[in-house]
Amino acid sequence: MAKIVCVLYDDPVTGYPKTYARDDLPAIECYPDGQSLPTPRGIDFAPGALLGSVSGELGLRRYLESNGHQLVVTSSKDGENSVLDRELSDAEIVISQPFWPAYMTAERIKRAKKLKMIVTAGIGSDHTDLQAAMAHGITVAEVTYCNSNSVAEHVMMTTLALVRNYLPSYQWVLKGGWNIADCVSRSYDLEGMHVGTVAAGRIGLRVLRLMKPFGTHLHYLDRHRLPASVEKELNLTHHASLESLAKVCDVVTLNCPLHPETEHMINADSLKHFKRGAYLINTARGKLCDRDAVAAALESGQLAGYGGDVWFPQPAPADHPWRRMPHHGMTPHISGTSLSAQARYAAGTREILECYFENRPIRDAYLIVQGGRLAGVGAHSYSAGNATGGSEEAARFNQSA
Ligand code: NAD
Repeated sequence: MAKIVCVLYDDPVTGYPKTYARDDLPAIECYPDGQSLPTPRGIDFAPGALLGSVSGELGLRRYLESNGHQLVVTSSKDGENSVLDRELSDAEIVISQPFWPAYMTAERIKRAKKLKMIVTAGIGSDHTDLQAAMAHGITVAEVTYCNSNSVAEHVMMTTLALVRNYLPSYQWVLKGGWNIADCVSRSYDLEGMHVGTVAAGRIGLRVLRLMKPFGTHLHYLDRHRLPASVEKELNLTHHASLESLAKVCDVVTLNCPLHPETEHMINADSLKHFKRGAYLINTARGKLCDRDAVAAALESGQLAGYGGDVWFPQPAPADHPWRRMPHHGMTPHISGTSLSAQARYAAGTREILECYFENRPIRDAYLIVQGGRLAGVGAHSYSAGNATGGSEEAARFNQSA
């Protein structure tokens, strides 16, 4: 019997939903590169239900308990005496979502003597100290592609909202105004702009494809060059450095994982290379950016707007400057946890667990760390090391809420 600790975000303040806005989800056959959607032997949830919150339990309880395992589900993950810390000592598997990450630091990994696997129900495993996971022979897996397209949609929404000045204009409607000049004095068309993505993996490439019909000029930077046929199809300009990309782009979108090479890549120095009035969209990870340098660039006008859904730490304390800086279009970390995405990553988590318990190989595409080294997508998209430093600050959310 294994003990599985699953850390999920809280239910809605109005209680777990009894009904939903829509009755079904569209059927998706496969991901754009042909990768199949998750293939568990079965699921015990209705696609379209809220699965990512505590009562949703990622739809895992029946499967795990009927196989004799123990499932502990909690949202308590930070600070003294969290349920996560109390349950860790005999846990074999820890599951959490990047939206409400269980920060699996070296210290926690060291204390979890029976820990064999850490599963990210979603994409992005930087909340686990990957170096420590490698040192302790722990497998780290995530559900590659489950919400890449969901995030790309959020990038499009945020870009348009900032460039067209949607959020302040909506506020004028709520205030009873008709202040057209106030709305449009910061409003532009996206058409004709130069848009660059830092990383052209699953999300970045999708963003480029979605941007194309807006009549934009497209740029990218990635440590793996895209095939020449894709560069030609999208008329892409490849850049070898952030400086080169930032100098020519009106919109920059960050779509790389957080690892030691990318941590704080956006800082006071790199922001100097951006065009004055550029928009920066970050749905990848908050810690790709120096928090205070971004706020200062908005104050000074170096950036015309900043938007996205990722913060550091998560949850962000009430006094996090990004909540109040000017011209931002931030949401909590939601882009990859639409009800549509939840159905995919709950099924993918179930697939990973079935493989683990039945001694079948976990798909290579889902692996980040295995056998003491980066593996699968981890070897392609990450660098070894640790990016969890400072995560203990997440405990301040409870104190400040
Ligand atoms: P992916 O693995 O398909 O793509 C990552 C790309 O980043 C790869 O092409 C890789 O070569 C590139 N890369 C890595 N290090 C780089 C560096 N130093 N410089 C330039 N390029 C670099 O992953 P994906 O599905 O596109 O997701 C990317 C990231 O987006 C995830 O790791 C995660 O952090 C974030 N994400 C956020 C959400 C959300 O809800 N906001 C959801 C999913 C993923």
